Amino acid sequence: MENTLETGIIDNIAEIRQEIKKFRDKNAIIGFVPTMGALHVGHESLIAKARQDCDIVIVSIFVNPTQFGPKEDFDKYPRQPEEDRKICTKQGVNLIFAPSPEEMYPQGMCYNDFTAIVPPKFYQDKLCGKSRIGHFNGVATVVLKLFNIINPDKAYFGQKDAQQLVIIKKMVQDLNIPVQIVPCPIVREPDGLACSSRNKYLSEESRKKAVSIYKALKKMKELYISGVDSVFRAIEESESLLHRDLEIEYFEVYDFETLMPVDKIKQNSLVAIAVKIDGVRLIDNLTI
Ligand code: AMP
Repeated sequence: MENTLETGIIDNIAEIRQEIKKFRDKNAIIGFVPTMGALHVGHESLIAKARQDCDIVIVSIFVNPTQFGPKEDFDKYPRQPEEDRKICTKQGVNLIFAPSPEEMYPQGMCYNDFTAIVPPKFYQDKLCGKSRIGHFNGVATVVLKLFNIINPDKAYFGQKDAQQLVIIKKMVQDLNIPVQIVPCPIVREPDGLACSSRNKYLSEESRKKAVSIYKALKKMKELYISGVDSVFRAIEESESLLHRDLEIEYFEVYDFETLMPVDKIKQNSLVAIAVKIDGVRLIDNLTI
């Protein structure tokens, strides 16, 4: 039967804590899906997995200012609360937590004024961390704050943001946070483009060019299967499949668990790519 009861939205911390306490008092298993909204089928797959595993599913929608650099797209990041709420209702989400920046950072957003999480340099100084300075401090800090507010049993993260997933797992392990991190596979459009809230920025023409990202990733896997294990050779050959209008920020191979760079491709190697097209930054990856 279709779910008709609209998912409730809570924007303040005290109130969401009260609601969560009620669920906890009934011994409910709580699943949590942190997002920045503009929900798409990728987010929906995380919610559906949480729905399968847990009694209660909480989705947060928060465009976190501290993870955006000064020249990044914080102001123009897509915001569509009504549509998001419909999607959450359809997916049977119990509550949406959608705080304002002031609710999350009442002391302001200057790192001199509050305690921030700084993931180890080794995990930050590569891939997206290289160009997005401080991004993962912002991500780790907000995720820990959200964990402390929601206190979930399980939290769902997409493999799409592979570096983020490794960093969050590391934080949970290092800081003994009592939550199980559940990684979820990348959801793609029928033509292979990874679903992303930022795909909305793409013109029809750029969208077509962006499809070559997945082609290049798949080529890496094909080459490995056909016996090519040299990262240098595989990248050189696969890169030629990328549309020439894509500006490559990185196209690299790492160990999927540790983010150690590798020069021989192995099973479980992570092939990760970031490109810009028409000013839109897109990331994607594939695990061999
Ligand atoms: P975001 O709203 O972009 O911060 O993403 C929220 C969560 O959804 C993160 O854990 C992402 O990795 C995940 N996610 C975003 N896009 C996809 C996708 N295409 N497939 C699977 N998970 C995704």
